[in-house]
Amino acid sequence: MPELYQVQAEGETITFDLQEIQNYKRQLIAKRHELLETIEQVKPIAERPSAKSDDTGDISSVPFHQADIGTDMYQQELNQMHLEQERQLLLDIDNALEKIEAQRFGVCESDRKPIAKARLQAVPWARYCLDCERAIEAGQ
Ligand SMILES: [Zn+2]
Repeated sequence: MPELYQVQAEGETITFDLQEIQNYKRQLIAKRHELLETIEQVKPIAERPSAKSDDTGDISSVPFHQADIGTDMYQQELNQMHLEQERQLLLDIDNALEKIEAQRFGVCESDRKPIAKARLQAVPWARYCLDCERAIEAGQ
């Protein structure tokens, strides 16, 4: 009989087998690694006090090109936004790893209902179930 990982959610118990949990953990750790590398690359660009267009072209790797607003300021803001998003994602991933250790993985942080497994497979760092996520986005 396989070992199980059980989580108490609102009104029900969610059951994962240990293999599933290991897979999520692997995915999270891989994503975390990838993010740290991206942050290392973007950080020096985003946090440079003033980017000049005649610089040696080290922002050429940025996939945006907006000819109409194409100022360095704009480019730098994009980099900063990008960096901010990556950092937020990193927090979510750390949070998900903590939840795995604390036997709370797969539970929505808002209403404590189970997060659908299809959602966890797509987004293992999801903090909320789809309903709560939509409600939060609608409220912004
Ligand atoms: Zn929820």
